[in-house]
Amino acid sequence: MDPVAGGLTRAAVWTGTGVDVRDVPVPRLGDRELLVRIRLATVCGSDLHTVAGRRPGPQPSVLGHEAVGEVVAAGPGAGTVVGTRVVWTVTASCGACDRCGSGRTAKCRTLRKVGHEPFDGAWGLSGTYARHIVLPAGVGVVRVPDTVPDVVAAPAACATATALAAVEAAGDVAGRRVLVCGAGMLGVTATALCAEAGADVRVADPDAERIAVAERFGGVGDEGGSVDVALDFSGSVAAVGECLHRLDVGGRLVLAGSVTPGPSVPVDPEVVVRGWLTVTGVHNYEPAHLRRAVAFLTRTAGTYPWDELVAAPVRLDDVAHALRRPAAPALRASVVP
Ligand SMILES: [Zn+2]
Ligand SMILES: [Zn+2]
Repeated sequence: MDPVAGGLTRAAVWTGTGVDVRDVPVPRLGDRELLVRIRLATVCGSDLHTVAGRRPGPQPSVLGHEAVGEVVAAGPGAGTVVGTRVVWTVTASCGACDRCGSGRTAKCRTLRKVGHEPFDGAWGLSGTYARHIVLPAGVGVVRVPDTVPDVVAAPAACATATALAAVEAAGDVAGRRVLVCGAGMLGVTATALCAEAGADVRVADPDAERIAVAERFGGVGDEGGSVDVALDFSGSVAAVGECLHRLDVGGRLVLAGSVTPGPSVPVDPEVVVRGWLTVTGVHNYEPAHLRRAVAFLTRTAGTYPWDELVAAPVRLDDVAHALRRPAAPALRASVVP
């Protein structure tokens, strides 16, 4: 039985020094808000960075932004969505500012983010390491078809949608030579996206086991040479520099892995000028990317072993353990709250 306003749910509260799993009251739902019961949450690497102190975040807060759940209650004006299995965007945007108006809602002037809001603020239940999450109006919600298992759907809202936004930023990759740098969850997903689109995909990663995983998703190990498109998910300065110098004339470099301040990459502008090169960045994504991500997972649920990328789930009470170490050889840990 799911709780109503005033009833109790259970959430893992990151305090800055540890994770305190506790019973917390369910708030009264506001206009167009949804209460979602989490079925399965996957653990994105950025949460490992937060817990390790490498990524700033509000304390206390409920972490977690990749999950699949079921809508169990809806506020006024939310429509008849109770009972639907869904994923949702990491961003909650206002829909009214200049950036939202220009189609970049992920860069809203008053952006709030799933799993990134103060626990003692207006959106306490913002994260997925909890039995229930509240989704405010402004979060994009996408229904998950019955043919897509929870373990395949859960990473959609960060890994799949971000990888898809990065691949789309590269333009049409059909018949093109694509270099994917970094074979974590995003890199492997981008490999599959590019392979499905008809690209010749080479994958670079210092970890041979990860390259072996990417080979099961349509890529081959990189052996050097020119490429038309390079996608960086590693965030490594050395890799970004190499990506740039591997581009053939008219090539395009998409940067998605550099998400913390780091050292500069030396760039000789002449290389960019003579090569007609394009360098672009992608951070988060739009609701339409999440819809296309779910459609992609639906098309390929039987083609690629998505389920093997996610480790067997731990209980919510054990989430602290999953947040302290990588899930290797799996690319994602998971939690069933
Ligand atoms: Zn993430
Ligand atoms: Zn806005």
